[in-house]
Amino acid sequence: ANHDGKPFIYRSCGPEDTALLAAWLANAAVPGTVIGLDGDLGAGKTAFSQAFAKQLGVRGIVNSPTFTIIKEYEGRLPFYHMDVYRISLEEAEDLGLDEYFYGDGVSLVEWAQIITEMLPKPHLHIFIETTGPDERKITVEGFGDPYIKWCSSLNENGVLHN
Ligand code: ADP
Ligand code: MG
Repeated sequence: ANHDGKPFIYRSCGPEDTALLAAWLANAAVPGTVIGLDGDLGAGKTAFSQAFAKQLGVRGIVNSPTFTIIKEYEGRLPFYHMDVYRISLEEAEDLGLDEYFYGDGVSLVEWAQIITEMLPKPHLHIFIETTGPDERKITVEGFGDPYIKWCSSLNENGVLHN
């Protein structure tokens, strides 16, 4: 992929490990942060999103918004959780996603690869691969700033410090 900078490769041995990475990123998030998530069904995209939302201060249940496509929550920042699995690029173009991507909140998109060309050029991409029953290989790639810096920091310090 034409990522900028070195990706951060994370080996997760269970949902709690995935939650640590999600929490690190939630702490780093600022208004306008955009994160795309990809990986097969059951890889852990929603598990990641739930841990991210929790660390962002969202109270209550964050479910996969497969049928509603977009769900909005309030945390330290507004949290926009999207799942574009069921729609086409053409349909996505009618959703006004730019309002979210360039808004004051944090956008997290499950199945982001469907709408890659609609994402802002600067964004973070996360790819989750199932490597065992509880094991996941998570590749975090930064495109543009500040996401490249996040990956450098993760490569240097890991998920326990930010
Ligand atoms: P997706 O949204 O990608 O379809 P989900 O998050 O809904 O996937 O489901 C992932 C499932 O895998 C959950 O039941 C979760 O508990 C389980 N799981 C097992 N190991 C991990 C891991 N290391 N990271 C994330 N989820 C994991
Ligand atoms: Mg999901």
